[in-house]
Amino acid sequence: MSSSKRYQAIEALAESIRKQLYPSHPVDMQEVVKSLKGELQEESFEDSTISGKIEKVGDAFKISYNKEHSPQRSGFTIAHEIGHLFLHMGYIIDPEKWDSINDYCDSPKYRQGYSVEEYEANHFAGAFLMPKDDYENFLRENGHNNKIDISLIAEHFNVSFDAALTRGKWLGIFDW
Ligand SMILES: [Zn+2]
Repeated sequence: MSSSKRYQAIEALAESIRKQLYPSHPVDMQEVVKSLKGELQEESFEDSTISGKIEKVGDAFKISYNKEHSPQRSGFTIAHEIGHLFLHMGYIIDPEKWDSINDYCDSPKYRQGYSVEEYEANHFAGAFLMPKDDYENFLRENGHNNKIDISLIAEHFNVSFDAALTRGKWLGIFDW
């Protein structure tokens, strides 16, 4: 699959999961994990650069996230792990893959192909937390002469400034 096809597939997946779960606005990732029958746990990681991890637990999963991080950052981390869950572990959508997954370790120390999967999980998180239509509508309603204070977007979606900016770049609204 070419990378732009893959990009579209990730957008479509995030959208279809949103349609089924119908999350609140801004998205409450705790609720999302609950709806997906997963467990969530705050943790203090020895390595403070680790934001979170995901494990398969029986037929479901557990996400741990760094309790030192802000709620906005943790929300993104959890959405990122949900990206791994569907894209790289096959939860619900690819039973064969799901069956074959025993350990999924979200860390560059342990896995090959880490950077591609990281990039994809981040893309999923951005699309899930900031749907294209909502993002564009917000910009239309709150921008002035095609300019907007990005912190307003971040606040609207309850994400970090960087996450809001990156999503806008992906959508072709801001320059890379
Ligand atoms: Zn990851």
